[in-house]
Amino acid sequence: MKLPIYMDYHSTTPCDPRVVDAMLPFFTEKFGNSASRNHSFGWESEEAVELARKQIARLIHADSKELVFTSGATESDNLALKGVVEMYRQKGDHIITSATEHRAVIDPAKALEKKGIKVTYLSVEKTGRVNPDDVRNAITDKTILISLMLANNEIGTIHPIKEIGKIAKEKGILFHCDATQGVGKIPVDVQDLGVDLMSFSAHKIYGPKGIGALYVRRKAPRVRLVPMLDGGGHERGMRSGTIPVPLVVGFGKACELCEQEMATESIRIAAMRDRLEEGINASLEESYLNGHPTERLPGNLNISFAYVEGEALLMGVKEIALSSGSACTSATLEPSYVLRALGVGSDLAHSSIRFGLGRFTTNEEVEYTIERMIKAVNHLREMSPLYEMAKEGVDLKTVEWAAH
Ligand SMILES: *Cc1c(COP(=O)(O)O)cnc(C)c1O
Repeated sequence: MKLPIYMDYHSTTPCDPRVVDAMLPFFTEKFGNSASRNHSFGWESEEAVELARKQIARLIHADSKELVFTSGATESDNLALKGVVEMYRQKGDHIITSATEHRAVIDPAKALEKKGIKVTYLSVEKTGRVNPDDVRNAITDKTILISLMLANNEIGTIHPIKEIGKIAKEKGILFHCDATQGVGKIPVDVQDLGVDLMSFSAHKIYGPKGIGALYVRRKAPRVRLVPMLDGGGHERGMRSGTIPVPLVVGFGKACELCEQEMATESIRIAAMRDRLEEGINASLEESYLNGHPTERLPGNLNISFAYVEGEALLMGVKEIALSSGSACTSATLEPSYVLRALGVGSDLAHSSIRFGLGRFTTNEEVEYTIERMIKAVNHLREMSPLYEMAKEGVDLKTVEWAAH
């Protein structure tokens, strides 16, 4: 086993070597512009792009003509929210999303608010799920878009998107889904889910960084968007710019591999994740699961270790790449807004660690991680006066802290 161990697959994934192999010729000998119609260099690239479109469309059960290539899910989310609002502004000025969306949705929604759009940020249940009834109740005759994620990037909770899709359809409202964490990990079918627009990204599924897609429904209804970039009119006018052929080829290959391997891979990864959870729980009291116990991504485990500060814990296990729910990077020292939205208290939110397992995670790495987490948590708790008081039976909630 080699150190450091990568256990942060929600933030990005390595390229699968088979993806790199597929991409390589398109940097050198096959370098044509896929929009060049007059020579074989262009034709060769166009053919590769069309094959990739088919591979990607197949994974999500779409038509390849319904894909718009972007630089990643952040751009796809921006294009979906801003492009729909600008196109359908005459019909209404209200959109619905949730409090636990990725910043790539929350921030465009806030930008739209500054321009006079009304935004409802739905709260979520304790497990992190949006309740479809809340969606139904939030709809007004001015609602033009609902945007909700398929699976959360921090807690892995999978939302009831299909049920919400039915409500959107029944009310005739466009439905966008940020499926970046779900595509390639769990079955995704745009027809079955009833989504009209869907964002996803190659680098979360063992493809290259810098390429993503927005699925835009062509029939029933035909979705229209105001583009964010003006230029050559590529991608049916929705996203101008020369197509990055090597990246698109890699994205296609990554989707093909996910399609072929998802069924077995998700079982293998979920089993390692379950072992990690059980190994930690067996030896560490007061460790609490964040998110949904079953409706969860196979590679996700988010746990709060009471009396331990997440950032301090990460410093104690530097040879394992993990992520914590306390944001020491932000000026406000606010813990994860996702955990806070679940009703997790500030202390436990600051104590949370996100484990992200993926294609290249091994059983050995999981066993090593269990052992190291137990040691590091116990070590920090031994130094914690709060933990000592709690062990002595003091109810910390009744303690009156001196102001300082
Ligand atoms: C990673 C992620 C994004 C951003 O994707 P990029 O391709 O890095 O721009 C958006 N939404 C979710 C849910 C993500 O996990």
